[in-house]
This record gives sequence, structure tokens and C-alpha cells, in this order.
Amino acid sequence: MANELESIIKDFWEVGAEVLPKLSSMNPKKRIAKFVGIYSEFLVHADSIIQGEINGVNVKCKEGCSYCCDHLIVANTGQLVVINEYLNEYPLVREGFIPKYPQWDDAFEPYREAFWYSVSRLKTEKATFDYISSVFSSPCPFLDDGKCSIYEVRPIMCRSWYSKRKFTSCKYNSKIKKLEIQCEEEIVQKILALEHYFLAQFGMREVPPGAGIMTLPHGIYYMKESARFMAGLRSKMS
Ligand code: SF4
Ligand code: SF4
Repeated sequence: MANELESIIKDFWEVGAEVLPKLSSMNPKKRIAKFVGIYSEFLVHADSIIQGEINGVNVKCKEGCSYCCDHLIVANTGQLVVINEYLNEYPLVREGFIPKYPQWDDAFEPYREAFWYSVSRLKTEKATFDYISSVFSSPCPFLDDGKCSIYEVRPIMCRSWYSKRKFTSCKYNSKIKKLEIQCEEEIVQKILALEHYFLAQFGMREVPPGAGIMTLPHGIYYMKESARFMAGLRSKMS
């Protein structure tokens, strides 16, 4: 598996070496489209590796089961850009998200400060991802009638989440048993490395403040609301 992943990464590196020098002549919109295309392809490979890992494992997940979508889901900048572009393409999906966001945001409010600490160096006992995950619960605003409305572009965290216990055990945060997929951490690390490489080529040496790792709902809401953020992102890519 490691070799397969290495060879996929190498392929993407080669694509990058060929494509990236041409990016400087592209307008920001085209650059983002290119980034999204390459990144989406990578996610397809990541999926196939994850599926390979769970082959033969008695996974309890099934369509329409979505207790896991009540948990704390995070995404990094590249993933948020891909999802945001998907929402530009499918505005009805964004329109489904917007009215559900405030309920999620209210539920998250008591944990917001701890979350920011947890992704900084200022972790405390109650400001770690694991602790917040164990106490926070609210349906993801992308959940639509028990199904994911952004399934094609859902974050890597959602892609790699499987349970081999009864699905009802996913209902309570403190009891969740997540199937440890051997390659998950490796995929995440490779994707982060790939993303870092591409963003560096786009001239984004600094990640926009607070956007390195964000909760998925807030990250998308932030991108929608903050014209300044998008203008800054695009100017850094130009
Ligand atoms: S992780 Fe749990 S809640 Fe999510 S789909 Fe699988 S069984 Fe259902
Ligand atoms: S993005 Fe989709 S899969 Fe992930 S938590 Fe939200 S609804 Fe569930």
C-alpha cells in the first residue's frame, strides 16, 4: 500500500512539475479550477486506497446512516477550496447549507475558543481535538435527509471514517468506535504535503489566518461571508 501511495504521489508531483510553471499565465479563476481538478483526482485515489483497506472488514456503515455526521469535522484549506468551488457549481447545495448553519454554529459556540486553542500550540486538557470531539454533537449542515450533500468532495476525515460496531454505537460521542484504517494518517499526511506543495507554487507561503485547519461548516461559512478572505486568497494566487 505504501508503495502504491508513493507512486500516486510521485505521479502528482510530475503533473505538478508540468502544470505549475504554466499557472503564472492563468487568471486566478483558472488557477483555482486547475488546483481543484488535480486535488479532486487525488481524492479519488485516496478513496480507492481506503476501500482497499476495508475490503474484507465487517464494516457496519450503510447509506443513510449518519450519526457520525454529528461529530466535529475539520478540513484544511485545500479541502475547503475544493468544497467551496463545488458549491459555486451547485448553488442549490449551498442554499441547503445556509439555513442549517446557524444551528450548528450555536451548538459549537461553547467549544469555539477551546477549538482554536486545540489547533494552536496552546492546547490544554479541555482544548484538544479528542476532548472537544467527545463532548460536541450537532448535525453537519451538509447533511440532507440523512445523506451527505457534498459526498463527492467531502473532507478526507469523512472519507476515512468507518465503524465495525453496530451503527448505534456511533450515536454517542464518548462510545464511538472508529475503525482504525491503517492508511488514514498516511493519506492525510500525503495530502497535506501535496497541498503545501501546490499552495507554495501558487505563491501562498502563508496560510490565511485561522484557515489552516477549520471546522468544516465554519470554514465554508467563512469563505462565503468573507469577501476579504477570498480577495486575499485570489490575490495571493495571482
Ligand atoms: S461511522 Fe457509524 S454512524 Fe457513520 S455511517 Fe458508519 S456506522 Fe453509521
Ligand atoms: S461533509 Fe458529509 S460526510 Fe462529512 S460530516 Fe458533513 S454530511 Fe457527513
